[in-house]
Amino acid sequence: MNIERHEYDVVVIGAGGAGLRAAIEARQQGKRTAIVCKSLFGKAHTVMAEGGAAAAMGNVNSDDNWMVHFRDTMRGGKFLNNWRMAELHAKEAPDRVWELEAWGALFDRTKDGKISQRNFGGHEYPRLAHVGDRTGLEMIRTLQQRVVALQQEDHEQHGDYEAYIKVFQECTVTRLLKDGDRISGAFGYWRETGSFVLFDAPAVVLATGGIGKSYVVTSNSWEYTGDGHALALLAGANLINMEFIQFHPTGMVWPPSVRGILVTESVRGDGGVLRNSEGERFMFKYIPEVFKDKYATTEEEGDRWYTDQANNRRPPELLPRDEVARAINAEVKAGRGSPQGGVYLDVSTRLPAEEIKRRLPSMHHQFKELADVDITAEPMQVGPTCHYIMGGVEVDADTGGASVPGLFAAGEVSGGMHGSNRLGGNSLSDLLVFGRRAGAGAAAYVDALPARPKVAQEQVDAARTEALAPLERSSGENPYEVHHELQRTMNELAGIIRKAEELTEALEVVEKLKERVQLVGAGGSRIYNPGWHLALDLRNMVLVSECVAKAALMREESRGGHTRDDHPGMRPEWRRKLLVCSTEDGGSITVEEQEQPAMRDDLITLFDRDELSKYLTDDEMDEFDRIAK
Ligand code: FAD
Repeated sequence: MNIERHEYDVVVIGAGGAGLRAAIEARQQGKRTAIVCKSLFGKAHTVMAEGGAAAAMGNVNSDDNWMVHFRDTMRGGKFLNNWRMAELHAKEAPDRVWELEAWGALFDRTKDGKISQRNFGGHEYPRLAHVGDRTGLEMIRTLQQRVVALQQEDHEQHGDYEAYIKVFQECTVTRLLKDGDRISGAFGYWRETGSFVLFDAPAVVLATGGIGKSYVVTSNSWEYTGDGHALALLAGANLINMEFIQFHPTGMVWPPSVRGILVTESVRGDGGVLRNSEGERFMFKYIPEVFKDKYATTEEEGDRWYTDQANNRRPPELLPRDEVARAINAEVKAGRGSPQGGVYLDVSTRLPAEEIKRRLPSMHHQFKELADVDITAEPMQVGPTCHYIMGGVEVDADTGGASVPGLFAAGEVSGGMHGSNRLGGNSLSDLLVFGRRAGAGAAAYVDALPARPKVAQEQVDAARTEALAPLERSSGENPYEVHHELQRTMNELAGIIRKAEELTEALEVVEKLKERVQLVGAGGSRIYNPGWHLALDLRNMVLVSECVAKAALMREESRGGHTRDDHPGMRPEWRRKLLVCSTEDGGSITVEEQEQPAMRDDLITLFDRDELSKYLTDDEMDEFDRIAK
């Protein structure tokens, strides 16, 4: 059977911030580049990003610089981050934001006309470049505009807008193809017609985002089914840090139909406070030892910080997300929650109504439309929601290259940069910094290739057979039921607070679900058939869920986005251990420990001894003392 076939130098899978920035770079380096995305072009998670992009530009507080940002990022990730990624990110984020502005982005301004920067949890200084609470939309608009500008150049030079960069929207990739150990292409289907499409390409950049749809309560939308994570695994690459999932502290809890939808951290950054059903501003009770000297211990000091940051410590509502999410969880469990099982987030008593509407227009609109709550006059009810996965494809920090030659990854699908917990705002900047690097890495890889890898027909046939299988079992298992069971299992047994028995039970259920996925059937034809699409996505969701639960069971400590009820507290001997997930054949996931290289001397000496002693082992501290002498 003939399959539609295209030949490119670089295929970028995903059209969010990471994918677009990677594609722009690959095209700028002269590579014929395809952008493939399963949703409509322009509809990616990046569009939903509200708060902003973190970059130490020092526009609002001139004390900010890359070293402060690097320290905040490492602290937020509880020192488990790939420090080289954190370094590159902190150093390059300002240039990437300025570059966006040069391409037409219109950021909010300070009074003296610079790009304005707002406060966010875990960032020592105001650092998030933003456009109201619609920053992601502006980022995507600008990157798309840049793609169009490049296409116009190509039209002038080659008479064809799509000569060097072409978008394939509503096209889902289901398999990566290999020639020996190297990438040779990608196989997918058009969502609308169900017909298949083959990309011949020596380099593939994964930029597919996260895995949130494996959980019931999530801020993520339908595309987040862990496709890139699974595609990488099935192609022989490793995933790291899969046990670390960020439960954003503030998702909507009511009404049920909107449960999980994000309430941006900007609400707290702009003065919003959290209270329990007794009216107590409870976060003061939950400042952990490692952050004690950095956060206000009284409401008065916390409030003063909004107008005088030099002489006061920040309020504990702005602790890193994992801390706030756990605190909310504990308050609700202790019976001090709101009627619908969350806590109260109040900005109405903190800012004038007009100011709220100006600074948080989307939040105002979201609550009014979806919950009939006017946030200028009453508090919101909020609770934790599965938001972001820190884990992903293990990549080389400088090039985004995975262990499989020709495979690159950037953005949320890659792992390492954020360690055990991501700071708000560090994703948008991550997309730009590492999207650019992955695009450049892929281009350099293609330049250095002695010969173009070839697509093997057997692999295309196998991918086609695999994709058609659910349609041939039209009376098989219902994909929606299997999906729901997976979501419920992950939420209840591998969620925000974990313990060994529950994780073991989760793995038993996932194992059974894996078998059921093999029996899932979809009625109807290949033409726009969401049941069939879900049946195909389920393979990916069960694979990544197995990684999450297995790694979570293995890590016997609590750190960042991984909290073990039966192993509370961080254990220094676990800090440098990465848990690496892989699979031989898509069957079972193997998880192995791998030691993370020690931080470079010039970077580790950016930290105080006292702070490091809270995270490092005694041996590591001895080494630090030797270096610091
Ligand atoms: P995405 O932007 O999600 O793009 C993924 C792309 O991959 C999509 O185009 C999708 O169609 C495509 N895709 C997926 N699977 C396939 C497949 N199999 N075949 C083809 N295409 C595929 N971060 C911040 O730094 N600041 C914020 O203020 C902020 N606010 C947020 C608000 C919300 C509501 C959410 C959900 C997240 C927020 N984040 C924020 C996180 C941040 O938005 C995401 O981590 C980031 O946008 C991910 O970008 P990405 O490029 O990796 O993926």
